[in-house]
Amino acid sequence: MAVKSVEHRQVIVIGAGPAGAACAQRLAEDGVDVLVLERRTIIGNPAQCGECIPNWGEVIGTFKHLEDHDWLETYFDFPDRLRLHRLDNMRVFLPSGKSYDFALDAFSGHRLQFDGYLADKAVHAGAEIRVNTPLKRIQHQRKKNRDLLVTSEGRFSCDYLIDASGSLAHVGRLRHGQDPAVRPDDQVPTIYAQVKGNVPETFDVFLGSVAPSGYAWIIPKGPNFANVGLGVRAGKLKGSLKDHLEQFCKDLDLEILSIGGGWIPMGGPVRCMVDGNTLAVGDAAGLVMPSNGGGISQAIISGCFAAESILDNINKGTPLSSYEDKVRASMGRALKNSLRSKNMGYAFMRGDVITELILRVLGPIGGIKRAMECERPVWIL
Ligand SMILES: Cc1cc2nc3c(=O)[nH]c(=O)nc-3n(C[C@H](O)[C@H](O)[C@H](O)COP(=O)(O)OP(=O)(O)OC[C@H]3O[C@@H](n4cnc5c(N)ncnc54)[C@H](O)[C@@H]3O)c2cc1C
Repeated sequence: MAVKSVEHRQVIVIGAGPAGAACAQRLAEDGVDVLVLERRTIIGNPAQCGECIPNWGEVIGTFKHLEDHDWLETYFDFPDRLRLHRLDNMRVFLPSGKSYDFALDAFSGHRLQFDGYLADKAVHAGAEIRVNTPLKRIQHQRKKNRDLLVTSEGRFSCDYLIDASGSLAHVGRLRHGQDPAVRPDDQVPTIYAQVKGNVPETFDVFLGSVAPSGYAWIIPKGPNFANVGLGVRAGKLKGSLKDHLEQFCKDLDLEILSIGGGWIPMGGPVRCMVDGNTLAVGDAAGLVMPSNGGGISQAIISGCFAAESILDNINKGTPLSSYEDKVRASMGRALKNSLRSKNMGYAFMRGDVITELILRVLGPIGGIKRAMECERPVWIL
């Protein structure tokens, strides 16, 4: 019987989202052999996003120790062709319709274009990306003391493995099943639609019964087009999310062009981001901001940090645990604040009347802004 061959690579990245693409580019630029395995046929499709993409100013305003990081600053200098609409302002609407607004430094784009652009850059730097290649199983070979990555397109082994597979953290799941140490928690179901109609200029967020323990959003993508969505804590909304989204769009007189959905891990960073030679990045490490669902910037930053730790491990023997230390030093505080805000929201914002009352108190003293910007919640200062 023929023995099936195993392809060995220095680094294998599972997933070609922003985290995987940034990691692959950073490594390839330093001459490391990188293979990205992506299960989708077209990178970035379907979008699974509100498509609000932060600018560098927003990133360094939220996370620490990044001001002097030239590589990341350059990486966040996205070309104009990706920028559909400037998002300078966010308005947060209470159940009554009263709103509070504050500044934002972001833009809206098409994730299909955005992810494709990031992947192209990784390939240009020397990384290889194979689409249509889902990781299906991980088999431990005791005799050779190695893991085999089993995909639909062959078997692989590697010196370093990056789990950039998104919110469901496929590598962690295949290795450790339900172990909460490596599985992003509080997976919030979300649904969104690309819509046509009279859309606002601003990133609008709606709180209250429209999206219990979550929020609804309208993110303009240009004249007459927007991304509209709902993210709601699992089990909090009766009926299907799709019906609620359709009703929300109907109430706003917006025509739905297409619908998609996905999961956002809102439980904060996983307890263990480094597992032997495997580093979890982006959503797979639970790095989404729980109070607003944003995860693109953390995906890129963590992808870059993981690559730098692998380079330090190769060149200087620095332990891979340095990756987790860097992530926590840069993002730990903001993500902790954001998690606290979300948990306070879960605990107290029950029903429109109470939600309105709480937000009327918090709004004028900056509490809503602080929650959205991952600062320490105002009520526990
Ligand atoms: C509805 C919704 C709205 C959102 N809105 C925003 C927003 O407006 N702004 C923002 O900043 N963030 C937003 N987020 C979060 C943001 O999309 C994520 O944080 C970001 O995409 C994380 O990047 P990533 O590279 O870690 O994972 P992903 O972008 O999820 O990429 C993971 C990749 O891995 C691939 N993959 C998965 N399993 C396998 C496998 N077994 N084998 C091979 N490949 C695999 C997937 O196909 C995918 O390409 C939103 C999320 C959702 C669901």
